[in-house]
Amino acid sequence: MKSATVIAHCATWLALAAATAAQTQTAVKLEDLTHPEVRQRDVRVVILPIGSTEPHANHLPYGTDTWTTDAMAARVAARATEKGAKVLVLPTMPYGVNTNQAPNPYAQSIRPATLTQFVKDTVDTAEQHGIRKLVILNGHGGNTTTLQAALRELFASNPKVFVAMVETWVPYRDQLEKVIETGGDHASEEETSIALALFPERIRMEKAVKAREAELKLPSLKTPYINFIRPWKYVSDTTGLGDPTKGTAEKGKRLIEIFLERISTFLKELSDAQLTETFPY
Ligand SMILES: [Zn+2]
Repeated sequence: MKSATVIAHCATWLALAAATAAQTQTAVKLEDLTHPEVRQRDVRVVILPIGSTEPHANHLPYGTDTWTTDAMAARVAARATEKGAKVLVLPTMPYGVNTNQAPNPYAQSIRPATLTQFVKDTVDTAEQHGIRKLVILNGHGGNTTTLQAALRELFASNPKVFVAMVETWVPYRDQLEKVIETGGDHASEEETSIALALFPERIRMEKAVKAREAELKLPSLKTPYINFIRPWKYVSDTTGLGDPTKGTAEKGKRLIEIFLERISTFLKELSDAQLTETFPY
């Protein structure tokens, strides 16, 4: 090799090494880091994303909740890192509570007790590694009540770790009507817009149709103050709700931006916080 060629090779290698170093400094997912990189990392807050694997009408794949949660976790951690937070994202849990989805084919369901135990084990493991602040990012409505109960259990079983929960669709709710025209939660205009902004290549928009939703028999069941579990096989003809044909990536980006700004601010505050005896007061 001529010396000019050697110098060119060295320059290329150095550039690659610098790019790799920059990547590992900015990498926010545990799964992207090696053992030495993890050992060097100063982590104050870990994020535990939890999704679900279930039918999402005719146009969104079964992985929608998991991919959405995974992408939102990575993006919000990157935004928080830019603000100076020291965060790390754990692998995304692809199984959720779908006890009301049977017999929709291959809707994957774990029992509330199983999800609770998974969360408790993950928090205990984080504590063993010196983590005292953990944020669950939930991307599936069927997990909500279980995760709220898990927080109550953890408050007693592992009070050393401060655990908070954020849900992918909640932080922008006060701005929702400015962006989204039609209602519905599951596989709706809203969820489709978010998915189009995050993973458009995985969506069959040409198959999207407005759902024919079943009518609830009791007027009282339509009120927000009665709680019950919806038997999902009867909710609509597509397993989705609302009108996903109105979904666009542009709408999704507007909602995601609100989420990212609000939750990255929270992560920075939490990362900087001293965990005193009286925290969060
Ligand atoms: Zn979903």
